[in-house]
Amino acid sequence: MNQNLYSLLATHFPKNPATPCMILPDGRVWTYGDVERASGRMAELIVALGLQPGDRVAAQVEKTPEALVLYLATLRAGMVFLPLNPAYQRHELEYFLKDARPGLFVCRPQARLVADEMAALAGVPHALELDDNGRGSLIDAAAPQPDDFVTVTRSKADLAAILYTSGTTGRSKGAMLSHGNLAHNAQTLHAYWHFQPGDVLLHMLPIFHVHGLFVACHCALLNGSAMFFEPKFDAARAMKLLPESTVMMGVPTFYVRLLHEASFGREACRNMRLFVSGSAPLLKETFDEFKSRTGHTLLERYGMTEGGMFTSNPYEGERRGGTVGFPLPGTTLRIVGAGGTAVKTGVVGNIQVKGENVFVGYWGMPEKTREEFTGDGFFKTGDMGSIDTDGYVTISGRSKDLVITGGLNVYPKESEELIDAMPGVVESAVIGLPHRDFGEAVTAVVVRQKNAAGAALTESGIIAAIKDRLANFKVPKWVYLVEELPRNAMGKVQKNTLREEYSALPRR
Ligand code: AMP
Repeated sequence: MNQNLYSLLATHFPKNPATPCMILPDGRVWTYGDVERASGRMAELIVALGLQPGDRVAAQVEKTPEALVLYLATLRAGMVFLPLNPAYQRHELEYFLKDARPGLFVCRPQARLVADEMAALAGVPHALELDDNGRGSLIDAAAPQPDDFVTVTRSKADLAAILYTSGTTGRSKGAMLSHGNLAHNAQTLHAYWHFQPGDVLLHMLPIFHVHGLFVACHCALLNGSAMFFEPKFDAARAMKLLPESTVMMGVPTFYVRLLHEASFGREACRNMRLFVSGSAPLLKETFDEFKSRTGHTLLERYGMTEGGMFTSNPYEGERRGGTVGFPLPGTTLRIVGAGGTAVKTGVVGNIQVKGENVFVGYWGMPEKTREEFTGDGFFKTGDMGSIDTDGYVTISGRSKDLVITGGLNVYPKESEELIDAMPGVVESAVIGLPHRDFGEAVTAVVVRQKNAAGAALTESGIIAAIKDRLANFKVPKWVYLVEELPRNAMGKVQKNTLREEYSALPRR
C-alpha cells in the first residue's frame, strides 16, 4: 500500500471536487479539485526538474494557497519539504541551504538576488519564485504540466519533511519527519478533537511551522473541511470569520488579542465547536477570562517540531487550565529526574516521549540524534514538567531555562505565576543572569498594565509582594520593568534575547 501522506489525505478529500478547501480574504475559493490538480502539475514540474525521491524542496515564501499546494506537491513527488520562515535573513538562509542542500529552492521575488547568491554558494541547482499573491516562475513553469500526476509510492519510514528548530541555543537543527510520523499524529488529532462533517477551520497561523502546517492543515484536509486561509492573525478579521467557523487553532497571543476586542464574546463564537491553544504557555488568567467571556473552554495541547503533538486536554471531560492534558493515544510520556530515573507523581522532572509520531532524527547530525534519545528509545524533549494524580501533565518550562542559583534549581514558571497574579501585572518572564556569588541570579522581567504604575509595581514592591510566598532562593534578586516581552512568530517569549540583553547591562 502507498503510505505517502498525500495519499492518506486524498482518500479523505470530499467526493465532490467542487467542495471548498481554502477560502481567501478576497472571497476567492480553492476547491479540493483545484488543490488536487494544482498539486499534480507542481509535482510533475518537480520531477521534470530532475529531482529524485528524497531530494529536498526548500520554500521561503509567504502563506498563500500556492505555498500549501507546493507542500502537497512535494509530498506527491516523493521529495522532502523544507519550509523556512520568511523572516530569516541572509546568513540564516545560507546555513539552512548549505545544511539541507535542496534540489529546488522556492523564494519570494524580492529575495531573488540573495537567494541566487546563496543557492550558488550552497550548490542548489534550481531556484524558482512564488510571490505574496501566489504568482511567479514556479506557477508559470507548472502551468503547462499535466495535472493527473500519480502520487509516488512512499513507505512509512521515508522522509516527508525537515523542519528546522528555532535553535534558541546553538545551531538550529533539522528535525526529519517521516510520512509515518505525520500520518500518525494527523489521524490521532483528527479523532481526539472529534473533527466532524461540516467543520470549518479558521486558519490564521503561519505555515512554515508544525502548528499551522501539520496540526491545522492536516486535520482540515483529513476531514475534507474548508479553511478560512488568512495570511496572518488579525483580530478584526477573526471577529468577522468566527461566526462562520467551527474550529480555531491558535497560539496564546491570538486569544489574548481577541479578548482585547470589546465585542468579543458569546455572540461571535455562537457557531464555534472548539478552540485549540498551543506552541507557548497559556496563562491561567487567559483561560479563565476566555471561558467567562465566551462560554468556551480553551483546549490546550503540547508538542514540538520533533514529533507534532504529545499531549492534549480532553475533548470530552475536564479541560484543566494551566495543564496540557494527557499523553495522546500512541504517545508514551514519562518524567525523569537528573539521573534518568522516574520521579514521583507531582514532582517536576525532564519530559521524555516515545511514539510513532516522534521524529526520525536530526538531519546530518547522527551524534546529536543519539544524545537526544535514551537507550530505550525515548526522546528527551528538553521540557520540564510533572504529572498529577489525575494524569494531567503540566509544563514548567524548558530545561535550558532552568535557573540554577547557589546550586539550587528554580523553575521560572513558579515565580512567574506569582508575579503574574499581582494586580496591574500583564505578564512576566523569569530568567537567570550571571552572578558572582550564586552562579546565576533569579531575574524577573515584568510587563505592567499601562495605567498601573502604582507603588507596588516597582522592583522592591514586586520582591516584597512575593517574598513570603516563595523560598528565598526563588525570589528574584533583580526586577526589570518593560513595555513588552520579545516574542517570536509563534508567540514564544524569547528568553535568550532577554538573557543577552540584560547580561550586558551593568549590575546595580
Ligand atoms: P516548536 O518546536 O517551535 O513547536 O516548540 C516546541 C516547544 O514549545 C515545546 O518544547 C515547549 O517548550 C513549547 N510548548 C509547546 N506547546 C506548549 C504549551 N501548551 N505550553 C507550554 N509550552 C509549550
